[in-house]
Amino acid sequence: MDNSASSTAAAQRTHHRTAYRICPLCEACCGLELKLARDAAGGREHIVSIKGHADDVFSRGYICPKAVALKDLHDDPDRLRAPLVKRNGEFAPASWDEAFGEIERRLGQVQQCHGKGAVGITLGNPIVHKLGLGLAIPRLVKSLGTKQIFSASTLDQIPRQLVCGWMYGHWLSVPVPDIDHTDWLLVIGANPLASNGSMWTVPDFRGRAKAMQARGGKLIVIDPRRTETAAAADEHLAIRPGADAFVLAAMVRQLFVDGLVKLGAAAPHVALGAGGLEALREALAPFTPEVAAARSGIAAADIVRLTRELAAAPRAVVYGRMGANTQSYGSLCAWLIDLLNILTGRLDVPGGLMFPQAAAFAANTQPGPGARDGKGRGIVTGRHHSRVSQLPEVLGEFPSPPCPKRSTPRATAACAPCSPSPATRCCPPPAASAWTPRWPHSTSW
Ligand code: SF4
Repeated sequence: MDNSASSTAAAQRTHHRTAYRICPLCEACCGLELKLARDAAGGREHIVSIKGHADDVFSRGYICPKAVALKDLHDDPDRLRAPLVKRNGEFAPASWDEAFGEIERRLGQVQQCHGKGAVGITLGNPIVHKLGLGLAIPRLVKSLGTKQIFSASTLDQIPRQLVCGWMYGHWLSVPVPDIDHTDWLLVIGANPLASNGSMWTVPDFRGRAKAMQARGGKLIVIDPRRTETAAAADEHLAIRPGADAFVLAAMVRQLFVDGLVKLGAAAPHVALGAGGLEALREALAPFTPEVAAARSGIAAADIVRLTRELAAAPRAVVYGRMGANTQSYGSLCAWLIDLLNILTGRLDVPGGLMFPQAAAFAANTQPGPGARDGKGRGIVTGRHHSRVSQLPEVLGEFPSPPCPKRSTPRATAACAPCSPSPATRCCPPPAASAWTPRWPHSTSW
């Protein structure tokens, strides 16, 4: 659009209202202020501008470039505004009734011929930010009856949740750094300045980190890459990719060597002696700082110094995420990170690693047993396994991304039950009464 056309279009729209919304793109849930205008003809509403909502108590006016780009997404001419149904190899626009009719006709055929597991479902990140979707998805999954379930969680965060389930008794008992009150923050394999805290939810990380540094605090980053967070840190230690577990194990070991283990508030919940801390100390004995240095490229002296700084700081916390989780020792890293916090008395204290009181679903807010004392009831995994690699389910899901080889039963070339053409179908179409879609028809989601 040239400038004159653009100004004409702008003149035809007048700002008529301001809307306040939550950015749906990630868990930081930043507050948005949207200026909306309507065409002179009174047609569809258009977004004039998007900026951070200054009065949002959580994000305090901060937004990242992704939220600004929501306007482009909203106005993108290629955006799907109606269902498409594939006919003769080409996608064609269809009404919602036609689309649902097609699903009802074909989905049942596929499942009847190849089993429930012939259909997989992948749940994307924004689902958890939409109340309607959050309520409807469990019913959809149940209706499909498939165990082939994948999600953004199994893409990168399950090691963290698995360890929280094992250690704290609930998938969603995920403690997060209390950055607003800490003096020393070690970030390993994470870039919260870009992500705003994956499984932490800390919008305006830059502002909070600056405030910590202004009150004399220190930010240290261990990461192979000089990330945005590393560039803003007081110290960046470049690590060889995949070696995080060695450094973390050496740091935990060093706490024992230096006699710096101090459990604090966690003491009543930690087993001592042969089956507990003593077993941990023995298991980590081989992981000396020198061994970790050879694996990681981080000097042994730095590993020892970091451990002593962590133990000595008045308030300190260790945080790790994606880079530390999406690797061979992802769950081990998540466990060792929490051990560092627990063994230095940083669990559940101000300035340390604290349990948020989530609005729902967490052990400390869920109704029923455990609601008052915040205890979970433990977790179970491995109730079924993926078809090819035999990986256990965790949280009812398999590792993403799904692919036909890994997940779904393979249809024979001769059998094409989902083919709309009787000529290519080797099995008869199901009788009308043979399969009843259990689609939840309630509109009260
Ligand atoms: S950090 Fe960016 S993408 Fe995430 S909620 Fe805030 S503005 Fe949206």
